Amino acid sequence: MNDSFASEFRRALQTGFDEWGIEVLDEQQARMLRFAQMVLEGNERLNLTRITEPQEMAIKHFVDSLACLLVKLPAGNLRCIDVGTGAGFPGVPLAICRPGWDFILLDSLKKKLSFIDEALDALGITNARTLHARAEDAGQDHELRGQFDLVVSRAVARLPILVELCIPLLRVGGLFIAMKGAEGTQEMEESGRALRELGSSIAEVVNLELPLGMGDRTLIVIKKDAPTKKCYPRRAGTPSKKPL
Ligand code: SAM
Repeated sequence: MNDSFASEFRRALQTGFDEWGIEVLDEQQARMLRFAQMVLEGNERLNLTRITEPQEMAIKHFVDSLACLLVKLPAGNLRCIDVGTGAGFPGVPLAICRPGWDFILLDSLKKKLSFIDEALDALGITNARTLHARAEDAGQDHELRGQFDLVVSRAVARLPILVELCIPLLRVGGLFIAMKGAEGTQEMEESGRALRELGSSIAEVVNLELPLGMGDRTLIVIKKDAPTKKCYPRRAGTPSKKPL
């Protein structure tokens, strides 16, 4: 990894955080750079991301991940799960910036999680662990169901499907942040029945523009109002085949 990657990445990162008013310590930014370098190193083997240019990586992966911190969240340290974390977004940048919170990084693809395990170890991140599972199975596991203050998920499924994967994991009163692009508004309109069936409602919608003109984002913040009916989530594969 050359010096120009590092300096361009760090400059874009700082620009993004300044623009959004997010405070990230120098040491945390250095960890983000190291994680970005590890993603690039692992990319040939594991096909982790198509975004490899330093500015784009800083803004579209790292600053974007921290958009969750712009949402009004409960006070105190949160128990959080990233559903469909892939190469670790948004979970790893969030875990770096919120060392007091506890994170589970869930995905059904083992090879990506093995990469994250190596990275967590190399970066000395102790407040996050990976979990190899389908979200549908995790949502029916009594050790995970109804346990989380915060669920986050980016680029995993359309919203009517995604809510069935994510809401069962929340405690009543907890929040789910669906990280969407411009398509978020349309997906929200299609999710009314699913939200009601899952005892949840939209708490807030945050529209954002990524720094350096890198695109629009819609954060759909959903609150769990009531315990989830036992039948949800349905068997693995059913939410996407027959969305609520
Ligand atoms: N969240 C990451 C990001 O934004 O860079 C990864 C996005 S990637 C397009 C989608 C990820 O979701 C994949 O790694 C896939 O394995 C995972 N995924 C999709 N459906 C899932 C499910 N039902 N349970 C667990 N993981 C799932």
